[in-house]
Amino acid sequence: MTARSSSSGPFPARSVLVRRGTIGDFDAPGPRPPLVPDGILHWAKWGLLPISSIMRVATHEPVISLTYDDGPDPAETPELLDVLAARGVRATFFVLSDRVTAHPGIVRRMLVEGHDVQLHGDDHTDMTTVPAPEAVRRLRRAKAAVEAVTGHRIRSFRPTYGAVNLATFLGVRALGMDVVIWSAWAEDWFDVPAQQIADRAVQALHPGAVVLLHDTNDPVPTPAGPTRPTVSRAEVADRLLDGVSASGFRTLPLSQMLDRYPPVRSLTFRRPRLRNIAALPQRLGSVSRAMNSSTR
Ligand SMILES: [Zn+2]
Repeated sequence: MTARSSSSGPFPARSVLVRRGTIGDFDAPGPRPPLVPDGILHWAKWGLLPISSIMRVATHEPVISLTYDDGPDPAETPELLDVLAARGVRATFFVLSDRVTAHPGIVRRMLVEGHDVQLHGDDHTDMTTVPAPEAVRRLRRAKAAVEAVTGHRIRSFRPTYGAVNLATFLGVRALGMDVVIWSAWAEDWFDVPAQQIADRAVQALHPGAVVLLHDTNDPVPTPAGPTRPTVSRAEVADRLLDGVSASGFRTLPLSQMLDRYPPVRSLTFRRPRLRNIAALPQRLGSVSRAMNSSTR
């Protein structure tokens, strides 16, 4: 196993570049399609790597990374941290700089307890919807604000809604960060029971998975107006971690996983495929509240 820091450039030679389809659906039951070499991508690899995103890592070992977006949230994050501490689990938090500035103590606690803190943006604006110079300005300011609290360099940026375009890539690269999406999710922006969210995440686990979760219950826009999930993020984590251990997986913070295993990268210029609102009633069964079709 070679440490990422020992590689000569920003992209480890062992990076695996695959088509988006090879990653599979984010909620598909594991295992995922094999990481087959692709002729065109292979030859174009070095030209495409700078505009590719990390989706997961390449390994057959039962290791995953739990990643939490949108915090820190004083209403949900501390209890979630209690659960992770009690379980001896270290996760990764993709934080919003406005929230970090408002609640720096929660971020300091994350670091003391061994979690990984990376960047999700400033106030959850979709950076592909603002002019490129503004996006870069916002990212630079957000990164500096988070680093002022963490005291270490931020290496990873997870775009809000997983939305990236060329300008975002250039800005992120110029700021010395890499783009990290995910390969599994729990669709935890729906207001459904904790067990249901946990089950969804557990069935999507696969070796090397990067799992998208949230540590806040902020309102999400829906066709019927903003709706606030009521599920306890701590309870979701408790049940999810039961499932993770029962399935034989172990967790690692993202930066450690990336140090140990080759990153699997893909081109994700569009938003990741999201649930069609029309399909929700069947999908959620008895759950009557239709939620929006986007991640937060
Ligand atoms: Zn988000």
